[in-house]
Amino acid sequence: MDIKSLLKTFTCSCGKEHSCDIKNVFIEKDAAKYIPECVKDYKTITVACDKNTYGVYGKEVENALIGKNFKTYIFPDELLVPDENAIERLTSALLPDTDLIIGIGSGVIQDLSKYVSFDKKIPYHIVATAPSMDGYASKGAAMITGNMKVTYNAHVPEVIYADTEVLKNAPMDMIKSGYGDIIGKYSCLNDWKLANIVNSEYLCDYIYNLTFDMLLSVKDSGAKLLARDEDAIKKLMEALVGVGIAMAYSGNSRPASGSEHHMSHFFEVLGILKNEPYFMHGTDVLYSAYYTEKMREELIALPEVKANSEFSKEEWKKKILSIYDAASEGVIALQEKMGWYEEPKLPVYKEKWDEIKACLKEVPTSKELLGLIESIGLDIKEFDSLYGEEKIKNAIYYAKDLKDRYSVLWLYYELMA
Ligand SMILES: [Zn+2]
Ligand SMILES: [Zn+2]
Repeated sequence: MDIKSLLKTFTCSCGKEHSCDIKNVFIEKDAAKYIPECVKDYKTITVACDKNTYGVYGKEVENALIGKNFKTYIFPDELLVPDENAIERLTSALLPDTDLIIGIGSGVIQDLSKYVSFDKKIPYHIVATAPSMDGYASKGAAMITGNMKVTYNAHVPEVIYADTEVLKNAPMDMIKSGYGDIIGKYSCLNDWKLANIVNSEYLCDYIYNLTFDMLLSVKDSGAKLLARDEDAIKKLMEALVGVGIAMAYSGNSRPASGSEHHMSHFFEVLGILKNEPYFMHGTDVLYSAYYTEKMREELIALPEVKANSEFSKEEWKKKILSIYDAASEGVIALQEKMGWYEEPKLPVYKEKWDEIKACLKEVPTSKELLGLIESIGLDIKEFDSLYGEEKIKNAIYYAKDLKDRYSVLWLYYELMA
């Protein structure tokens, strides 16, 4: 896949204009060699990293900036959290007249560089240190605000540099997470199609197929990734960036995030709120995708389409309060605004059941997904034992309430809860 060919604006057969504002992406050995050319028009540069990422690639970036007015700010934290305090520290570390931020890192540094540069109305470049998630090319900055995870709409990086030599030596957990984030697309792409059938939600075939192709290019590479094969790592990173571009095209995260992401956010949100452990993002996504597929299989096997029980708003509110605790007010307010509980979709399900069932059947079976989970050295038992039956069940029924997006979680809730 030639990622550069995706950096364009075009009118699509779906009738919309799609664009991606990223100017350049380099996924290859010695990617830092492109920095001097890409920063030549900038006068004052602040480099942001943490102790780890500085150790991994800081010197290479600084060497590429020799002759420029730049300063490197290294977050000293053992565990850096993208909260108000970190935003404040990076903002005050900027040199006066900084016209470019270069972040070195994956998750947190990336979100912080994105957020602060957007706030300052200047561009940022990201130097990737791990193929761990698909946010590199996305507009969303995932921050922790008042102990809650909030994704802000910010902007895409101007340039992404990813040195495959660095990526292949990233911690194995991060490589597994990146693989999981991609395999999760089976679930979210199916959710998108389902939403198109049930809610007539907009669906672009081009973006759908593009994301699906990224998934296929990575799917069978578990063993190679475990062996840190450079070509497999490069393909994984291309898929992660490519999926980010697909999100830029659609203007939201629909092509890349559905029920499996809602479940993973559930575990992350509760983890942050209650100080409980949770897996790395893509690992949670992969395990959750196994569960959303189990749900699809149960739905496919239903002998008859009918609401499983009478819905009670009071009972639902009680449940939300008991699960989400301090965050429940926001969750309830969001669903009040959505109003989906007031208009059950049962008539649509009845009318379109054959079409719905055919759609649900398109995802590889839970057994096949278990094979993919094992291929990257993960074990679903770890998921079951970390969260336990009760928490997983709560995610299945109530993770959907964190979001304003239709997925199989809604279908399952209405027919199986
Ligand atoms: Zn389109
Ligand atoms: Zn993800």
